[in-house]
Amino acid sequence: MRKRGGYDGHGLRSGRAWAGLSALLLLGGCGLSGDETEGSETNARSPADRGFAVSYEQPSAADLDGASFLRGRKLMEEASETLDAFVGVGHQVRVVGRSCGGEGSSYDPEARRIEICYEEVAEERELFQGAGRHPADDEVVAVLVETVFHEAGHALIDALDLSYTDRGEEDAADQFAALMLLRKGVSGERQLRVAAEEYGLSAAEDEKVEGEAADGDEAADGDEDEHAPDRLRAANHLCYLYGSAPGRNSDVAGSTLLRRARAAGCGKEWALVRGVWMKNLAPLLRGR
Ligand SMILES: [Zn+2]
Repeated sequence: MRKRGGYDGHGLRSGRAWAGLSALLLLGGCGLSGDETEGSETNARSPADRGFAVSYEQPSAADLDGASFLRGRKLMEEASETLDAFVGVGHQVRVVGRSCGGEGSSYDPEARRIEICYEEVAEERELFQGAGRHPADDEVVAVLVETVFHEAGHALIDALDLSYTDRGEEDAADQFAALMLLRKGVSGERQLRVAAEEYGLSAAEDEKVEGEAADGDEAADGDEDEHAPDRLRAANHLCYLYGSAPGRNSDVAGSTLLRRARAAGCGKEWALVRGVWMKNLAPLLRGR
């Protein structure tokens, strides 16, 4: 089942190849453990090594097309450049394309590593093609760019040692993704709109599966995810989109995903959400 921006580690993963190297540098996962020393950069890294650094692992046979698409569109590179121009994170955060074997894209705080899953290319393409969009290349790119920014939000929450509940952190990561996309202007607005649409499609698909699954059996739900439900994630993104530029996006207000009553407050809501992130990011900000 697709849970975009999926399992995010929260310090629970260990034993990754990078864990040893980064052990000296740990800030603790998502503010859950504050006992490590901040900023103890003891190994010799040049300034050029700091920031978001993209690499690709060898894909599994099933993911060859997805990996090739991801490389070809250079979306991880572009997102990383955008992030580096915006914030100086102070250490290296790896952004790695890989075959995830069923786990969703994630941020691993122990390894300071964002993992973007090749298999999500095919999954997102299938979802949008099922909704009549062919070949859905731009939709796939939009969703994956939003995913990179969402995971980067976790990386920054980690770097800033901000304290959130699991759900609060997921919401904040979504809000960071919205911030990064909306900073891009019209093209980013379009991508945020697609990301919201994806949550809407995903929610509809899940509801269909649950409806077919077990006759009234609660077990069909099985949703132990720390993210907000997909419909709410869609509504939030649309609210930020509308709130940031109502003139260009008036069509989303009063849609099935964003009710008119909420839309009326989205200007204020987005200003608040943006303000909180900008305040939190202040120590790292390079540009506005
Ligand atoms: Zn997340």
